[in-house]
Amino acid sequence: MEKTDLRILVVDDEEMILKLLRESLEIQGYQVETAQDGQEALHRLEEQAFHIVLTDLNMPGLNGQTLLDKIKTRWPLLEVIVITGYATMEAAVEALKAGASDFISKPLRLARIQSIINRSYQKVKSIYENQELREANEQLRYLNEMKNKFLSITNHEIRTPLTIIRGYLEILEIEAEDWSEENREILNILKKTTQELGLTVDRMHAFSRLKEAHHKAMQPVDLGNYLRAICQEFDKLFRHRQITFAPEIPDAPLIILARPSGIKLILRELLQNALKFTPDSGRVEVRLLKQNKEVILEIEDNGIGIDYQQQELIFQEFYEVQDSIHHKTSQTEFMGGGMGLGLSLVKEMVRFFGGKIELESEPGNGSCFRIILPLKPEHTEVHNHEGSQVC
Ligand code: ADP
Repeated sequence: MEKTDLRILVVDDEEMILKLLRESLEIQGYQVETAQDGQEALHRLEEQAFHIVLTDLNMPGLNGQTLLDKIKTRWPLLEVIVITGYATMEAAVEALKAGASDFISKPLRLARIQSIINRSYQKVKSIYENQELREANEQLRYLNEMKNKFLSITNHEIRTPLTIIRGYLEILEIEAEDWSEENREILNILKKTTQELGLTVDRMHAFSRLKEAHHKAMQPVDLGNYLRAICQEFDKLFRHRQITFAPEIPDAPLIILARPSGIKLILRELLQNALKFTPDSGRVEVRLLKQNKEVILEIEDNGIGIDYQQQELIFQEFYEVQDSIHHKTSQTEFMGGGMGLGLSLVKEMVRFFGGKIELESEPGNGSCFRIILPLKPEHTEVHNHEGSQVC
């Protein structure tokens, strides 16, 4: 709130004082209106919103004290400053008891008036700013709730038809052996697109469940095991794009406390990005190593890299550097489309597992995402990728 937004109503029966006060306050930038008695002041207040009322106590008709009482009943938050007569402290004390914020005694000194009005302005300003913040917070909370509701409804409404489509596609596939080359190609496109849609829905699901899922218990997980299995999933996709894919995963178990679904999500998102943002014939390296009580996972590509200004921002929800309409549709093609959700999910999951994620990237030369996770102190029951338990 600027000074020019503050509206002051000055009430006094003496024309000269009204003129003097109006001019000295207007010079400071405030908006000033005047009234010659309490009754007129009440009319003004009904017509227009004011922030501060500066009123004389001694006025014919409806006097300052009655005006103050009426204001405090009708507009309790309105700041009222009273002007008292010569050496009438009693009246000032009465006014303060009745809710006045301050008083100015006659003879009027402009410096004192300006400093009291300034103080009131600061008070009104902070009330307004707090209120604006509260409203903005409330709005954010509401939007967040709507976003989560929207995501979970969309998930649900898409998942069921998707399952049905997948089921029928499987039936068609059995019959497709007798089909023409062209029709089999169409079926393949349908399968691929459905699979991509499924991946998108899975991400949205993971995103909307992220906050509520936090209470779920974590379990010991062999990270190497999972990484090996997920790298295998991606191997064909990298080869299809002639990208050299070189995972270095030690045989010895590297056990962390995590949730298997979260670990799979982290690995898939990072590998998918490396695949998406590395041109054909590029190179993607994956390294997993133990360092003291931590395990370090690096996924490094020699792809397009990320602008320095964007490097923090890409971890925000729904943030994409490239406009998504310029992306190729397939997720595995170079610059294939996404929703800007992947890295925010990864960051949140890593944080949940007690670790951190770092990024080193040089625009035009590639990126290295590094995840550091605490190792579990001693081995107990361990989940490997197939879901069985080893000791
Ligand atoms: P999306 O789901 O759209 O892939 P992400 O959250 O995974 O979104 O990534 C956000 C943005 O970060 C991407 O749109 C891309 O611009 C950039 N990005 C992520 N990984 C890489 C990478 N390995 N190389 C270059 N840019 C990347």
